[in-house]
Amino acid sequence: LRAIALAALGGASPAFKAIFGQGFSLLAAIVLIVAAATSLAALNSATRTAHFQQLATKDALTGLLNRTEFMRRAGEMLGRAHEQGTVVTVIMADLDKFKSINDDFGHLTGDEVIRAFGVACRQSVRSRDLVGRFGGEEFIMALADSSAADGVAVAERIQFVLSAQRILLDGHTVPTASFGVADSAVHGDDLGALIASADAALYGAKSAGRNCVMVSGAAPIE
Ligand code: GH3
Ligand code: MG
Ligand code: MG
Repeated sequence: LRAIALAALGGASPAFKAIFGQGFSLLAAIVLIVAAATSLAALNSATRTAHFQQLATKDALTGLLNRTEFMRRAGEMLGRAHEQGTVVTVIMADLDKFKSINDDFGHLTGDEVIRAFGVACRQSVRSRDLVGRFGGEEFIMALADSSAADGVAVAERIQFVLSAQRILLDGHTVPTASFGVADSAVHGDDLGALIASADAALYGAKSAGRNCVMVSGAAPIE
């Protein structure tokens, strides 16, 4: 506006000086500075909110859901499944003999192996399925609209993807994992009961020699 008025009225004109003089320039500068500062503060606050949300819901090592967020979302998934009459399958997955990887190669290498396991789990499910880190080297998944047989197929895919990453320690491909599977058609749609059933099946898979998948209430699948 000031440039147009300057061209139209000329810098020496009293009208230009009265309206677009020093006072106007100062006021315009103040308004621009306040607007810029407000926008920066808003951006900063939005970035911080996103950062805190990330911290509150994601596992720092793997970027997958943390246990609390997994439980919240899996509860919602089961609620929807109950309304729609569909089946949810829970998979508990645990690395085999992981403590020896830490002991033999160090904690940082152990962290890399946990991350690789997380990647294998996430890559082996659909985007609407949930994957969380349940504890140290133990992951949990909730598969929407899926039977225990679908859960077995997912577990076998994870075994394949994990082995295809060919993490070599001392010339050996590591690690393997064991899986416990339970579905809501057999065990009901209470999340705690489903997890307990999948965990019992995982324990069965460990007892059966590890590197296998066990469906709650069935024989282990090699
Ligand atoms: P199993 O086949 O029976 O599952 O044996 P395991 O050795 O895998 O099981 P165990 O529960 O004895 O060991 C789990 C180990 O995981 C022990 C713990 O120190 C380690 N661990 C837990 N969290 C982390 C982590 O964030 N990073 C690393 N590197 N290790 C972890
Ligand atoms: Mg383990
Ligand atoms: Mg464990």
